[in-house]
Amino acid sequence: MPLLPRRFERLRAVLDRRMGDLTVLLEHLEKPHNLSAILRSCDAVGVLEAHAVCLEGRLPTFNSTAKGSQKWVPLQRHDNTLAAINALKEQGFRIYGTHLGMEAIDYRCCDFSGPTAFLLGAEKWGLSDVAAEGIDQAIHIPMQGMVQSLNVSVAAAILLFEALRQRQVRGLVPTRGEGVPPERYRDQLFEWAYPEVAAWCRQEERPYPELGHDGEILAELPRGKRMRC
Ligand code: SAM
Repeated sequence: MPLLPRRFERLRAVLDRRMGDLTVLLEHLEKPHNLSAILRSCDAVGVLEAHAVCLEGRLPTFNSTAKGSQKWVPLQRHDNTLAAINALKEQGFRIYGTHLGMEAIDYRCCDFSGPTAFLLGAEKWGLSDVAAEGIDQAIHIPMQGMVQSLNVSVAAAILLFEALRQRQVRGLVPTRGEGVPPERYRDQLFEWAYPEVAAWCRQEERPYPELGHDGEILAELPRGKRMRC
């Protein structure tokens, strides 16, 4: 069945507003519902992709809380925290570590309009020492109650929406795809539109075919390969 032009238009409209310079790095999160809720917030805000360091031998798992957002926000996995932090710094990200210690500043005092990565810690233990040492700035969300911390997905949502708010105020939220490098835009659109064909192309080490104006694939594919999202 071909991709409906209306569906393709919607995919493009969402990708047009994605921000490649806003992300989260999740360290050793254990609970699928937290990972799912965070990806859902990333999708809502317009994060292009998220990052995670998993506990050894664990794969990220999602549950219904995600509402399918794992399809729309790719999760890049990293082997360890230091490698993840370094990779993001190399891409120009400033790493804001959510740390509940004394040196952390109120998140509302920060400027999140530049390339921003929020590093969030494990449900029970918070950030590791390696993470705490690697960050550029420790931030916290001030608390007024008896409980010391928020649920990690709530903290992520507050920070992401603050970054979005700041960018909206300054007119920095992309509207025509300028938040995503052109080649990445093209690949991401193809992966959203035709996930199974995209997986097949990667397996075969073939480039993704070009798409036409209405999202139609402009190439001959083996029979059965024209599945849509
Ligand atoms: N006992 C842990 C600690 O001291 O860090 C609590 C971990 S908390 C439940 C899990 C994660 O949620 C934290 O690592 C942080 O990323 C985020 N978080 C929770 N409350 C926060 C707050 N008030 N400010 C910033 N981040 C917060």
